[in-house]
Amino acid sequence: MSIVNVFAGGLLDRASDRRTDADWLAAQLASPATRVVPFFRLQPLVAPGGHAVGWLSAAEVAEFLPSQPTVFLGLDGDGIAHFALDLSAVEDAPSQDPFRSAGRFMDLRAIALRLPAGDASTLATGKALVDWHARHGFCAVCGQRTGMRMAGYMRKCDNTECNAEHFPRTDPVVIMLAVHGDQALVGRQKAFPPGMYSALAGFVEPGECIEEAVRREIFEEAGIRVGAVRYHSTQPWPWPSSLMIGCFAEAETTEIHIDGNELEEARWVSRNLLAASYRGEPDTGVMLPPPMAIAHQLLKTFIEEG
Ligand SMILES: [Zn+2]
Repeated sequence: MSIVNVFAGGLLDRASDRRTDADWLAAQLASPATRVVPFFRLQPLVAPGGHAVGWLSAAEVAEFLPSQPTVFLGLDGDGIAHFALDLSAVEDAPSQDPFRSAGRFMDLRAIALRLPAGDASTLATGKALVDWHARHGFCAVCGQRTGMRMAGYMRKCDNTECNAEHFPRTDPVVIMLAVHGDQALVGRQKAFPPGMYSALAGFVEPGECIEEAVRREIFEEAGIRVGAVRYHSTQPWPWPSSLMIGCFAEAETTEIHIDGNELEEARWVSRNLLAASYRGEPDTGVMLPPPMAIAHQLLKTFIEEG
């Protein structure tokens, strides 16, 4: 069974072969059918109530299209082009029409579960790209300015003696449940709401495979040695550019030693206790992460496999 996490499952055809076709892109931005979602300070425009993306026509945002960063998101089933437009430099965009009358700029996490299928993924793509462009105005090789290319999927150094090409980054993060019999290892960060426990997680380091990162992170954070690692699912997480890789790992030891830096507590919890918490029973002492999080899906799978 394949699991599609929130922010995965986009329905647009990314049409990557069109990204280098300047004439085609210009024609799309001039077409009345083309749809554009504005972003302001990394928040997408959503219709009142947050149940739909605040798509505008290219004509409605025409005055911003040449000057503000615009990235191509893809084509829908009718071949209509969709773009994201970054208005962060337009100081009063939220109070300007057509944006004010179309809806509000809102945090993607607050609305993702209310959106129609595929739209959270489309907005995650837009947010990740808009954010990457905002952070990469200068060349990491020579320090000169860079400019957008390939409809938003590359930046190129303006220095003709350098010409370095830079591509949007995706940072792999392993997030995993160590399992021992009918017990799963969960941890708490200080910033979590009271009673909430989640799966352990950490960035994959250069030169590491996923299994090695899972084993290292669990040992660093909780002192548990794990053997076999089993893949569960992945989730794009555009804060700012992570790809969460969900795994299960077979624990070979059970004595917990927390590092005290990343976690304030780690503990083994039984499948029965997690199931009771999942059903919403009171006084379990364990609150699961929200359904939007891949950690929630990992815990749900662990409960269901019992
Ligand atoms: Zn350069």
